[in-house]
Amino acid sequence: MSAKRDFYEVLGVSKNATQEEIKKAYRQMARKHHPDVARDDENAAEKFKEINDAYEVLSDEQKRAAYDRFGHDAFDPTRNGAGGFGGFDDFTGGGFTDLFDLIFGGAGGGGRRRRGPQRGADKEMRLEINFEDAVFGMEKDVELSRVEKCERCSGNGAEPGTPIKTCPVCQGSGQSKTVQSTPFGRFETMRPCSRCHGEGKVIEKPCSSCKGSGQIRKKRRINVRIPAGIDTGMRLRIQAEGELGIFGGPPGDLYITVIVKPHAKFKREGNNLITRLQINFVQAALGTEVEIPLLGGATHTLKVEEGTQPGAVITVKGKGIPHLNSQRWGDLKVIIDVTIPTRLSKKQKALLTSFYEDSDDKESKKKLFDKLKDAMG
Ligand SMILES: [Zn+2]
Ligand SMILES: [Zn+2]
Repeated sequence: MSAKRDFYEVLGVSKNATQEEIKKAYRQMARKHHPDVARDDENAAEKFKEINDAYEVLSDEQKRAAYDRFGHDAFDPTRNGAGGFGGFDDFTGGGFTDLFDLIFGGAGGGGRRRRGPQRGADKEMRLEINFEDAVFGMEKDVELSRVEKCERCSGNGAEPGTPIKTCPVCQGSGQSKTVQSTPFGRFETMRPCSRCHGEGKVIEKPCSSCKGSGQIRKKRRINVRIPAGIDTGMRLRIQAEGELGIFGGPPGDLYITVIVKPHAKFKREGNNLITRLQINFVQAALGTEVEIPLLGGATHTLKVEEGTQPGAVITVKGKGIPHLNSQRWGDLKVIIDVTIPTRLSKKQKALLTSFYEDSDDKESKKKLFDKLKDAMG
């Protein structure tokens, strides 16, 4: 409880600051630390509350005097002594609307509620791309829509040439007051005017384009650069392509989550590319060279060593997937599948049989295999 910071320190004013100075300091601090503005600061809500707590007390001469004498103890709800004010929750006199006016509105209370600049909302979208495009990178036109200011009425919602009048219900204040009499006294509640929704002005004839909302959803195309090496689930941040800000606030950002379609022949493992190659058992035994397709249309002559076993992996350096924003490339890994013929001709059978019966004589084995190779085509 007593870890609370000094209220004068919170607002950055001296102990003998005037009400005008306190109000000015509070406005500056509240604007800066309002959670809607200071979005990057995770402690914004806490700071904002601290600022408000300080202002609640220092702006009220009676509470300020108590604070000057007793410090934070003056407001300790656990204390019921003479100095106690029963905690902070009893400060509801001004209400939220007044608070907002004070922070963001013009000087002096009572004006219609105006809101400060607000950053536009972020947008999310998914983008499916081909496997090869993910490996080599690409540029893609993406169509998206966002709410923009209506051009026909410049955003004021009125049909061009027709007047915008002061609201006849609230006389332009934007607020309506309800007075309730109860046995405990009169209660006044302020609400945004139901006719003008707090704007203080009414439109005689709504704009034919936006139906009076002042906003219109527009389709637009943007060019998105997809970096080489991107993988499924990665998010691209496109600055300022989210929804537009309000009252001059900056637009939000667009986040594109990339989904990479699978490839029939290649798989990805980190930055390595995996593929399979089928050779027959004669090729595996004798060794061979096979032309294999690479991504992007090129080919590579793969050397299969003599005596290659089923499931062996041959690595081709640098023919995999590029590391994001780097010149380094992963490798291509070729997994060797060895096929065993299911049907043999008489000649093939005879050759295999004599191969089986043959001794360890390397030379004759080689000759037999060569014959077998011809026989297998
Ligand atoms: Zn319009
Ligand atoms: Zn009104």
